[in-house]
Amino acid sequence: MSHVFPRHTKVQPPVAVAGEGCYLIDSTGKRYFDGSGGAAVSCLGHGDPEIIAAVQEQAGKLAFAHTGFFTSEPAEALADKLAALAPGNLDRVYLVSGGSEATEAAIKLARQYHVERGETQRRHVIARKQSYHGNTLGALAAGGNAWRREQFAPLLVDFSHISPCYEYVLRRDDESACDYGQRAAQELEDEILRLGEDSVIAFMAEPVVGATSGAVPAVEGYFERIREICDRYGVLLILDEVMCGMGRTGHLFACNHDGVVPDILCIAKGLGAGYQPIGAMLCTAEIYSTIENGSGFFQHGHTYLGHPVAAAAGLAVLTAIEERNLVGRVRAKGDALDAALREAFGQHPNVGDIRGRGLFRGIELVSDRETKTPFDPSHRLAATIKKAAFAEGLVCYPMSGTRDGRVGDHILLAPPFIIEDAQIDEVVGKLTRAIAQSLPKGS
Ligand code: PLP
Repeated sequence: MSHVFPRHTKVQPPVAVAGEGCYLIDSTGKRYFDGSGGAAVSCLGHGDPEIIAAVQEQAGKLAFAHTGFFTSEPAEALADKLAALAPGNLDRVYLVSGGSEATEAAIKLARQYHVERGETQRRHVIARKQSYHGNTLGALAAGGNAWRREQFAPLLVDFSHISPCYEYVLRRDDESACDYGQRAAQELEDEILRLGEDSVIAFMAEPVVGATSGAVPAVEGYFERIREICDRYGVLLILDEVMCGMGRTGHLFACNHDGVVPDILCIAKGLGAGYQPIGAMLCTAEIYSTIENGSGFFQHGHTYLGHPVAAAAGLAVLTAIEERNLVGRVRAKGDALDAALREAFGQHPNVGDIRGRGLFRGIELVSDRETKTPFDPSHRLAATIKKAAFAEGLVCYPMSGTRDGRVGDHILLAPPFIIEDAQIDEVVGKLTRAIAQSLPKGS
């Protein structure tokens, strides 16, 4: 009997014993193509010798020094590099151990910033219905995904949720993408005014929505309008790039595409590329100086903040992304993956939408393409596809999500940046077979 507390208590997962490039290998020798990099984590693939060497070297030199007393060389170097590469004046970097820690820290920093400026009446955070910002209670409250929140609802702080920018489902036939984006963004202003125009702390959103929707980018102009609304009411804009950041969308930061600079930016997953658990919250010089010139103390912290070995891994990953020109590669391979998905599923009667940016791609499954009707949730289609794909030797990230209240099934692909063209064919071939085996009879 295993003493590990697994995610699914009724399923005994195989034992992963090795990773080689884009593949994971279990204890029986079976190979799996890591088509979602776990959950958009393994951007460099497995077994990268440079990252392994950086981790080993740092562990040998200094494994831990508490940030209540010390900073460390790798934490300083990683923060310098992130600040230099980040857009605008996001020049202070708070290093944490993962995505939920980054979003929690962002929410608390946003509130403390307003408190230190004397605006203690600001107490609301607005996010979007179709979003995931992490699983700790604050981050879960920010996320709008009903399934993840349901049983914890009585423990969750009361965040507001507006509609996502979800063109496939929510754009009306009589409006252009641009008009739709303006209408979707207007919901933010309406909600700020409903709550009280000087009572909102922050608005939080994923530039390209991952875990709840399968790689849904906003339409052009949406985030520009969101930025204007935030500025008008003194609301901080927090962008959560935990999943879509670090080159994944073909830009180092996903918000580069939208031409918008947030006040606080959260990253994780691809930053450590799976070699170490690490995340970061970046904030503007203005937010930092408000704390610096005020209390001088951010009322937050975790034991493993700025962990030297994790920071060394993050630094090595970021260096590899830059020096190997991986962002350019993500664009090229992302276009190839998109083309292969369109070739395989463009005419498929049960594939309603193919979307995403870079190597962050999603498809949405529907029982009727014309009406965009989702499958009945009782089919558990996403879960069935996940199982069938795994049997085929493909790790992908299917999910059943709520589509602004309705149910839908999506599959997210986020393969390592080192994927080759032949491997794109392998992924799409395996996925095609998994979907064919999983669709309800007669569809
Ligand atoms: N934010 C987003 C957008 C995510 O996709 C995730 C995880 O999937 C998180 C936050 C939480 O990150 P973690 O699981 O590292 O705590």
